[in-house]
Amino acid sequence: MSIPDRMVLLQRYGGFPVPFTVLVDLVTGIPDFTATDMERWYAAVSERLCGVCGTPLDYWIWFIGGPQSMEIRSFFDPGMHEECARYALSVCPYLSGLKGYRPAPRQHEGAVIEVKHNVVDSPDICLGNTRDFVFDIPSKIITAAPFTSIETFSRKGGIP
Ligand SMILES: [Zn+2]
Repeated sequence: MSIPDRMVLLQRYGGFPVPFTVLVDLVTGIPDFTATDMERWYAAVSERLCGVCGTPLDYWIWFIGGPQSMEIRSFFDPGMHEECARYALSVCPYLSGLKGYRPAPRQHEGAVIEVKHNVVDSPDICLGNTRDFVFDIPSKIITAAPFTSIETFSRKGGIP
């Protein structure tokens, strides 16, 4: 899958664009795709930026999460553009559940890290689109408005 236009300016690591909210070690420049930079997270939710490319969201806002998250419309990962969400689902081993993925050892002393637990244990992953969301800073929970549509993908064997 080719990199969406909106994502071409993102930092690359191992050939892949590094999402806006992924924590990057300031000394080594190495991203930890399983950890979130909470300053970027706050910027995304408060300024309504895409969690993947970091540019302003459009009319439709897309959320990725497990079936339970979709049911209660509760998320940690910020909303995204459709093409950014679909790209993340297709190439991110963490989201697609591809075999062999191992999070890097944590070496972010002093950094603000939030580990993404919400989709790890689910065999399915979903993509939903909506028009709006609200967020709560203390709990770091984003609540999406009712979804217009929800697609469900099996994480075994990856995302088509
Ligand atoms: Zn985007």
